Amino acid sequence: MAEHEHVRVAVIGSGFGGLGAAVRLRREGVTDFVVLERADSVGGTWRDNSYPGCACDVPSHLYSFSFAPHPDWPRTFSGQEHIRAYLEHVTDVFGLRPHLRLNSEVKLMTWDGERLRWVIETSSGTLTADLVVSATGPLSDPKVPDVPGLDTFPGKVFHSARWDHDYDLRGKRVAMIGTGASAIQIVPAIQPDVAKLTLFQRTPPWVMPRVDRAVSGAERLLHRTLPVTARLRRGLLWGIRELQVQAFTKRPNELGLVEQIAKRNMFRAIKDPGLRAKLIPSYRIGCKRILLSSTYYPALAQPNVDVVASGLREVRGSTVVAADGSEAEVDAIVFGTGFHVTDMPIADRVVGAEGRTLAEAWSESGMRSLRGATAAGFPNWMTIIGPNTGLGNSSMILMIESQLNYLADYVRQLDVLGGRAALDARPAAVDAWNDRVQKRMERTVWSTGGCNSWYLDENGVNTTVWPGTTTEFRGATRHVDLAEYDLLRAPAPVPAPTAEPEPASVAHPAHRPTKKKAEADA
Ligand SMILES: Cc1cc2nc3c(=O)[nH]c(=O)nc-3n(C[C@H](O)[C@H](O)[C@H](O)COP(=O)(O)OP(=O)(O)OC[C@H]3O[C@@H](n4cnc5c(N)ncnc54)[C@H](O)[C@@H]3O)c2cc1C
Repeated sequence: MAEHEHVRVAVIGSGFGGLGAAVRLRREGVTDFVVLERADSVGGTWRDNSYPGCACDVPSHLYSFSFAPHPDWPRTFSGQEHIRAYLEHVTDVFGLRPHLRLNSEVKLMTWDGERLRWVIETSSGTLTADLVVSATGPLSDPKVPDVPGLDTFPGKVFHSARWDHDYDLRGKRVAMIGTGASAIQIVPAIQPDVAKLTLFQRTPPWVMPRVDRAVSGAERLLHRTLPVTARLRRGLLWGIRELQVQAFTKRPNELGLVEQIAKRNMFRAIKDPGLRAKLIPSYRIGCKRILLSSTYYPALAQPNVDVVASGLREVRGSTVVAADGSEAEVDAIVFGTGFHVTDMPIADRVVGAEGRTLAEAWSESGMRSLRGATAAGFPNWMTIIGPNTGLGNSSMILMIESQLNYLADYVRQLDVLGGRAALDARPAAVDAWNDRVQKRMERTVWSTGGCNSWYLDENGVNTTVWPGTTTEFRGATRHVDLAEYDLLRAPAPVPAPTAEPEPASVAHPAHRPTKKKAEADA
């Protein structure tokens, strides 16, 4: 094979996960790495989701890196453009630009078991790396349902995460498909401008009030001059959410009280009993992601909005038809239908030690990993926000930072092992971890709440959410336990021929990497 550029670490993606990994690698003294990003700028989620009203559901002082506090957040819940600007700022402050390879989509990664390295084919060329950190995002590839007749629609169609800013929605008749986190932000943002908004709702969400306000100049000054106050604020926001976790994971019945607050949020704005009946969920709050908005229900009560309590069944020319048979003539269709989550797209592009893709390895079991990071048969390959690392009620940045601790220790362990070595998660360790996660999942609201959510895969298994506190996950990912890994060693170089040849019956070991339990060598 031709020689390619070789790096120690290839990070894929430049959202919070990829940029965080880059900062962490530099802090560990690793500078021989690249960040491969398919788009032309950094930002991930917060670059791609620029729809009207896009904002975070977690307060900014918690939804940011602990190592890069930002005293100047303008609002308690920041909008997309401020979070995107923050990530650009992090890229500059931590000197990450030289590592960036923009417009470089990873097409295929193949494990080279002879040389213990990954061969990575990208849209801008091929390179090799000792270690791959895949931070391609849990909500990064939009999912558009296969709707019969969509190709006959003469108007405009786009997904919330690929908003077409050149298309003017003012005065148009718009069909909004879906009532998830993005849709409930889009609806109040566009309702005043469109002629008619028809909202297709398969399942109503629980929507809590959003207590958002501008951060005052005095608060910002305080955080700038006394950074400890920003840390205290973050700690408080984290602690409150940490205390709530038990209700989600162990005592879902306690969430009934929260339902009352959400109902009040609805009843304040929705007076029509018919509309209320469509909007009251029939499952326990928390089973699907709890949404925050104080403007969604008031928008639904406006005369130019029609809520169809049914999914989109088909499109006939410019007519959209719901599963319950109701129809509407529209000029544009906006899909707020979410992302490929439990069928992680990058899994089709990773070919492991046994010549199988990660997607094939997961085809029967669903997504599985060791501590949310590594997978058996895929040595020196780890994901940030891998299986069962999502959160129902707090900041994903907390989970990302835990995974960065794991990455840092992984790199240290490889250093200690010295020379050319790789770690491969042992199947028994992966099984043990997943058994524990799934056992704990049984009592959670995501399993018992009576809903069908995007947290569940096609077999109904929750492969996305972490069923515990962020503190527990922090503890579980503080160190790499070498007993959970097989150690792979590169074969010794083939010795020069000697006068006395080896007996023909003895196979030369040089062509296979040696594999042993890591602890034996550690
Ligand atoms: C609209 C929206 C709102 C959200 N709100 C919240 C919230 O309030 N609180 C919260 O905790 N979380 C929220 N999330 C979840 C959010 O995705 C995570 O918090 C976090 O931003 C994920 O960061 P990431 O780096 O893992 O992924 P991303 O930010 O998705 O970044 C992944 C990057 O990988 C790149 N990439 C993907 N495939 C390839 C490839 N093959 N080759 C090269 N590059 C590739 C993508 O272009 C992207 O830049 C929200 C998500 C969305 C979509």
